[in-house]
Amino acid sequence: MDKKTAVAAGTMLPVMEAFYTIQGEGTFSGHPAYFIRLGGCDVGCVWCDVKESWQSEKWPVLTVGEIVAAAKAYPGRKVVITGGEPLMYDLDPLTALLKLEGFVTHIETSGAHPFSGDFDWVCFSPKKFKAPHPSIYAVADELKVVVFHKSDFEFAEKHASMVVEGCKLLLQPEWSKANVFTNEIIEYVKSHPNWNISLQTHKFMDIP
Ligand code: SF4
Repeated sequence: MDKKTAVAAGTMLPVMEAFYTIQGEGTFSGHPAYFIRLGGCDVGCVWCDVKESWQSEKWPVLTVGEIVAAAKAYPGRKVVITGGEPLMYDLDPLTALLKLEGFVTHIETSGAHPFSGDFDWVCFSPKKFKAPHPSIYAVADELKVVVFHKSDFEFAEKHASMVVEGCKLLLQPEWSKANVFTNEIIEYVKSHPNWNISLQTHKFMDIP
C-alpha cells in the first residue's frame, strides 16, 4: 500500500509532533498526557497558535504502530490526539491500537469533519471559520468555546443547544485576549452557571 492510500485508510498519519506533558485546558487540566499532534488543518482560525500545523505535507508520515510505540515510552496512559484538525483522518486504526495497548483516548477537535475513532473523551471546540459536521454533537463530552470576540457568547450558546445532555460546557479566553474577556467570562459564568471556565494553564506554566 502506498503512503497516500495508507493515510486515506488511517493506517499511516502525518505527525507534526508528539510529546508527554500536562494537559493544560478543559476538564482534564492538570493530568499528565501524551499529545499526538497530527499535521493538516483546513479550518483557518485567525488566532490559531499552531499555524505551522496547517500543511500536512510538511510532516513525517508514520504508521500507527510507530506512533503508539513512541507513546508507550512514557509512564502515562492518557493520550490526547490533537492537531491541526485530527478528524481530517480516519482515526479508527490509531485508536484501536491505542486501546489494545491500554491507553485512554482523548481527542480535541473542531468537529469540522465526520467523526471517527474510539474515544473515551471528546473535546469539541467549534470554530466560526468552518462549520462542524453534524456527527460531532452526539459524541461530544465537552464543548469548549474559545472567546475571542463578544459574539462568541452567542456562538457558544448556539452549540450548547445542540450537544447532548451532560456535555460539559466550557468558556476559554483566547490567550491574546485574556485581559479583555476574562472578567466578562467570569460574570457570564456566574450568571449562567451551566457554564464553567477553562484556562490555558500550560501557558502559565510555560510548558507545551
Ligand atoms: S482548528 Fe485548531 S489547528 Fe485548525 S486553524 Fe483552528 S486553532 Fe488552528
